[in-house]
Amino acid sequence: MHKKLIVANWKSHKTLSEATEWLKLFKTGIADKDLSQLRIGIAPSFPYLELAKNALIELPNCFVVAQDISQFPHGKYTGAVNGAQLKSVGVTHVLIGHSERRRYFGETHQLVAQKIEQAVDNDLQPIVCVTEDQIEQQADALDKALKSKCIVTYEPLFAIGTGMGEDVPAVRAATDKIKEHFGAIQILYGGSVSPHNVNEYLMITNGVLVGTASLDVQEFLDLIHKLLE
Ligand code: PEP
Repeated sequence: MHKKLIVANWKSHKTLSEATEWLKLFKTGIADKDLSQLRIGIAPSFPYLELAKNALIELPNCFVVAQDISQFPHGKYTGAVNGAQLKSVGVTHVLIGHSERRRYFGETHQLVAQKIEQAVDNDLQPIVCVTEDQIEQQADALDKALKSKCIVTYEPLFAIGTGMGEDVPAVRAATDKIKEHFGAIQILYGGSVSPHNVNEYLMITNGVLVGTASLDVQEFLDLIHKLLE
């Protein structure tokens, strides 16, 4: 059995001092906890990846996640952050194709597929986000080998940042569809996950992607503590 995976997605939030304070309080909040049944990923903005890596270094089962990756390797691509660069600052996992990337940055299934390939080429674990409607087409844009390397997160649009999580039976149906198209991979759920509902989602998934409830460190610690009760 895989350990449950909890990923905090800070999105485009936090200044350097806010990120530093969050990480300090997080370390203190879980210092005496047994995290052996969990894996906890923190996904800050690019400038804080190394800061997060250094803060988490002594915490068992905690690691740093990038929120995006370039579809290109190193080269003349101003503004892009490539897989080798992410790897070199200690990143192990990368979010790819989040609905906000697809919506505001025009990311297509093909672009997402190129990013997944870059992640895998650089030994980074891709965490690919899809809505129910995108499952089949996103899978079709990948060959079998790449599909098998993905962790897929089901994220219904209506549930993201709204406080209205998806019904558990609908999450189960989406996970079945993901398995049908991607094979036997790990599947996460994301969309208004909170300390109040996290255990329900973890009963039917391998983990959760947490946006809003990860911004306040105390709320995120409450969520982690719920899993340890
Ligand atoms: C997300 O950013 O992927 C997300 C699920 O956000 P929230 O938890 O705020 O719904």
